[in-house]
Amino acid sequence: MPLLEDEMADKPYSDFRSDTVTRPTPEMRRAMAEAEVGDDVLGDDPTVQRLEDLAARTMGKEAGLFMPSGTMGNSVAVKAWTRELEEVIVEARAHIYNMESTSMTFVSRVTPRPLASKRGAMDPEEVERNVRQAAVHTPRTSLVCLENTHNNCSGTVLPLDNMKAVRAVADRHGLRVHLDGARIFNASTASGVPVKDYAAQADSVMFCLSKALSAPVGSMLVGPRDFIDYSRRLRKMLGGGMRQVGVLAAAGLIALRDMTGRLGDDHRRARALAEAIAPLPGVTLDPSDVETNIVLFTFKHPRLGAADLIRELKDRGVWALAVLGGVRLVTHKDVDDADVARAAAAFKEILA
Ligand SMILES: *Cc1c(COP(=O)(O)O)cnc(C)c1O
Repeated sequence: MPLLEDEMADKPYSDFRSDTVTRPTPEMRRAMAEAEVGDDVLGDDPTVQRLEDLAARTMGKEAGLFMPSGTMGNSVAVKAWTRELEEVIVEARAHIYNMESTSMTFVSRVTPRPLASKRGAMDPEEVERNVRQAAVHTPRTSLVCLENTHNNCSGTVLPLDNMKAVRAVADRHGLRVHLDGARIFNASTASGVPVKDYAAQADSVMFCLSKALSAPVGSMLVGPRDFIDYSRRLRKMLGGGMRQVGVLAAAGLIALRDMTGRLGDDHRRARALAEAIAPLPGVTLDPSDVETNIVLFTFKHPRLGAADLIRELKDRGVWALAVLGGVRLVTHKDVDDADVARAAAAFKEILA
């Protein structure tokens, strides 16, 4: 197949597992092939520098750092903001707590303090009640982690007012706030709140280029300059120092410049998919809970388990994923209305 042809033109299957499956666009591949590069560990890759500047400006922060993954971005941020014998307040279903292979305890050697929430939004008063002071028995709370959109809460948008209230608690107690904004552009598209306004409630923000924005690899960490300088050293320590990485940053620049404007299509399709499958037997799902691009539902059926459903779907060319206690389908650049129709038909055939 020619390099720059649309790879998804003739699809044998519809891949709803995640927005991480998105292929780079032809423009990205062209930019990658032609990228001006240097040695980024030595600090002279101009394409990486352009991306880091653009990321920082986009989020209204002083500086940015290109990361090989969102997980490393979050790990480095937690490490930079904490010391041993400290504790981090985190939402109980947060990615940073559940899906990052224990990095908080392994890399930073701090304890997470998970709090329940209403669809991803922690109660600010409960956050305040859980702030702890250093004493002989207890760690000091030093950081609060937020997630917007909230992946395991079906891509819900964390309300700006909730973030402001948590920020106020953090300020009263001298805590830092890190925002896991893997899908912050989805949040902004759904709510109309500019990403800068979300970012202003946090000291640091991680966001992914590799998900809905369709870059092949990469996430950004942004924050104050001294934090980013220190994070650069931590990234190197974790093995994330990359050399002629302008070839990846070139795709990231296009992701940030051109790919945020189309996310509303993904959200519309996710809602349509949710409406098609919500009435089916075994599916517990309120379509109005689907605010962005993630359809997540619990599945309890007399005849089929979640794994059976996923296999039956796959037999019909529809790929879904089992996640924390549910089944998940995610819309993205590489699924269109026809894929949604195929998924809806497959669900009906299996369950109706
Ligand atoms: C995907 C994701 C990450 C981690 O990104 P990777 O690049 O897969 O390591 C972090 N937080 C959230 C909410 C995510 O969805």
